[in-house]
Amino acid sequence: MITQKRRTGGFRLELPGLRLQVDPGPGCLLSTRLAGRSTTAVDAIFVSHSHPDHYTEAEVLIEAMTRGGTRNRGLFLGSRSAVEGYRDGSGDYGPVISAYHRELPERVVGLSPGDEVRLPEGRLEATPTEHGDPTGIGFRLEYEDGVIYYTGDTALVDGLFDCIEDAMTAIVNVVRPGSDRIRGHMCTRDVIELVREASELERVFITHFGMKMIRVGPGREARRIERETGVETIAPRDGRAYRI
Ligand SMILES: [Zn+2]
Repeated sequence: MITQKRRTGGFRLELPGLRLQVDPGPGCLLSTRLAGRSTTAVDAIFVSHSHPDHYTEAEVLIEAMTRGGTRNRGLFLGSRSAVEGYRDGSGDYGPVISAYHRELPERVVGLSPGDEVRLPEGRLEATPTEHGDPTGIGFRLEYEDGVIYYTGDTALVDGLFDCIEDAMTAIVNVVRPGSDRIRGHMCTRDVIELVREASELERVFITHFGMKMIRVGPGREARRIERETGVETIAPRDGRAYRI
């Protein structure tokens, strides 16, 4: 994030009836414009946890979604830390949006793993993570064509296997290449282990690359995952749209 070798604005999912902005980190709004996309055509925003590479432009995106606060519309979803704030022995996390911005969307919902939100088309379920922010989440999004699973930031833990088992598309945050594991995150080897447990998976997108990953090349790691699992794996380029 601090080098900006790659962009850090998260990603957008565009599905029938739902345009969801996920983890709007630094540069989200500018990257959206540079990619030729609308900044305001957003129905929902999701913040997985209270680390700045995932939330710094959350308020900016709320303003975009609500047309500068003039329309009470859209959904803001986030971890408990992101929405309400959370404190325990490990630290003091969030909230990541001000009281003012909380009032702008039509609905604001703090989610814990297992919680569900009904959407106009389909539903979203918060999934567990093992990461620095103890309230961090990912999601499973069920809609007419299948299930999309986003891991959020997490180490490879047992709870993830159930989440990916029947997913059609997975978006996996992988920080380091090979077997170079770092606490609270996955490396390429972990992704291979996770993807092997899935039975319906058609496509994997890897994202959230650290500097070591950028140096060896995410494309190389994607090819390795694809070779070892037989599942198409894509390391997306910044600003490009992909079919899911
Ligand atoms: Zn994090």
